[in-house]
This record gives sequence, structure tokens and C-alpha cells, in this order.
Amino acid sequence: MCDNKADCDEKVEEPTREDDWPKFLFFNYIQILTIYGLYLGVTKASFLTSLFCGFLIGLGVIGVTAGAHRLWAHRSYTATNSLKIFLMLCHTLVGQGSIYEWVKYHRLHHEQFCTHNDPYNPTKGFIYTHVYCFIRKPTPEQEELANKIDMSDLEQDSVVMFQKRYYWILYALIMVILPLYVPLKFWHETFICTAFIVVWMRHGLILHLSWLIYSASTVLGLKKGERYPLDTNAIFLIKKKFWLQYHYLVPWDYQTGEFGNYGVDYVSKFIRVCAALDYASDLRMIDSSGVKNALEACFKTKKNIKDCLLEENLSSSVPKDHYLRPSKFYNAS
Ligand SMILES: [Zn+2]
Repeated sequence: MCDNKADCDEKVEEPTREDDWPKFLFFNYIQILTIYGLYLGVTKASFLTSLFCGFLIGLGVIGVTAGAHRLWAHRSYTATNSLKIFLMLCHTLVGQGSIYEWVKYHRLHHEQFCTHNDPYNPTKGFIYTHVYCFIRKPTPEQEELANKIDMSDLEQDSVVMFQKRYYWILYALIMVILPLYVPLKFWHETFICTAFIVVWMRHGLILHLSWLIYSASTVLGLKKGERYPLDTNAIFLIKKKFWLQYHYLVPWDYQTGEFGNYGVDYVSKFIRVCAALDYASDLRMIDSSGVKNALEACFKTKKNIKDCLLEENLSSSVPKDHYLRPSKFYNAS
């Protein structure tokens, strides 16, 4: 949902984003290798190789969603150093640059949502948000705004800064060498199958999954005659949730699933398990009475709804015997 709908509809003279040719060629190369990896996965590779690839994709999704998005970009919970290191390694498995850069542009996306300075502007449709925005350089204005984003919390985080400093060494070790080593060593997979499935196909598939974080909203709830229906009620009819609207109003809720779920996705469950094991704490969320209080406060004080919701946030830890039961968690204090 745009704060100001006029911003979405207004035709503003936009600065052109230049093509990023190295990225364009690299992503094309990955897509071609991914297709051949899919072919090898169906026709030649061991089932264990595909299973291992799926396992690494699952870890990569945790790195982006539980790590870069919910922990570092939105501070929706607190993690111990051991959990941070695990999430940083999972994020490195995705191969999409450092957590620091991911968070900087995600915070810019929230700050400039739906305007021409939003690097992943969803009003431009699926193709733009899914691929096009990633193969173009930011405009000078976007870069300037990104450099003004407050990143002091990440700059004081030794795990994030370690990954930023040694990113390419970690990339070679975690993204390429380790995934290559396991199938070759433990079930004697061929080098060709391992390289195409576990390295390239995995890279291609996880690229699409992480791009969906920005593009899914443009295909959910398409209405006839409306190209970019961000505010449509069809999102609710299909998913039973106003995910997009909710996340941009309450980005600090740790249970907001990136692909449309709330509280029941495996990443939310993973965070609850970590909390039950004392690796995560201060899990932030809001319950129905909090939303009601926030709406009342918004009406009475005329304050911004986002600020009123923030004032009602609950910070909780998970009882050990309830960590997989979201219904128990909604009432946590
Ligand atoms: Zn977000």
C-alpha cells in the first residue's frame, strides 16, 4: 500500500537507470546453466544431489528472510552471535552480495516505497521488480539517498562487517567450494552434475526466490484493467491476508512471511525454535488488541498510523514447551 496513492499514480519524469551489463550477462549465463542443471537433475544426477541442492536452497532462504530481512533490515528480533554467524553463512550461500548492501537498499525500498526513488518500485510491474531492477544501476539520486540511510546498527555488528570485508573469499568457500565438495566426496556424484545442479541451478533458483520478495506483490490479486493493483482486495481473497499492506505498515513484525504467510511459514517457526533454544529473543509482533489500540490512538491523536502501531509492539520470548504453536504465541506478553 502506498502511503500516498497519488505517488503511485503520478507520472513523474524519472531519471533513467543505466544498464548494468556485467550483471545482465551474469544473470543470463546463470539462467542458461540453470536450465541444463534442471535437465541433469531429471535425467542423470543422483537423487541425493537434488536433495542436497534443495537443502542448501532452504538454508539460503533462511539467510535472506530470517537473516538479512527480518533480523538485520527490520530488527524484528535479537539474535546471539552464534545465530548471527549461522545466518550470515546461510546468506552467503545465496551469492547476492553482502548483507550490508542488501539491507541498505531494502531500507531505501521501504523509505521510498512506490516512488521513482524506490529501486524495486512495484508500480512498474512484475518484469521490472523481478528482473529488470536488478540488471540496472541505481540512479545517482537513489545512490545518494541509499548513502544517507542510517546503517549505524550494522556498522557496529561485527558479523555483518566481517562478511562485508571478506565477502568474495566467503563466497568462494561457502557458495562454491563447499557445495561442490560434499556430493563429490560423500556419494561420488560426477563433477558435471555437481557443478550444474548444486552450484549453478541452485544459484539460478534462489535468485528467483529472492527476487519474488519484491515481485510477488505485483502478481497477487491482478484485476481486470488494472496493471499494478497494489491495493486490491483480491490479495485478501486469494491469500486471506493483506500481506503487502501489513509488511509496509508493520515491517518490524518477525512473523511476516515474505511470500504471503503470517506466522506459519517455516522461517517464523525457525525463529521460534531459535528462541526456544535461547539463540533469539525480543521477538517483536503485534496482536489484535494492539492493532485496535493503535487505530484508536491514530483517530484520537491524528498521529501517523505507523507510529501508533509501533507504540503497541509486543516483545516476547517463547515458552520452551510452546515454541511450535503460533496460537500460544499470539498471546505472549
Ligand atoms: Zn521489508
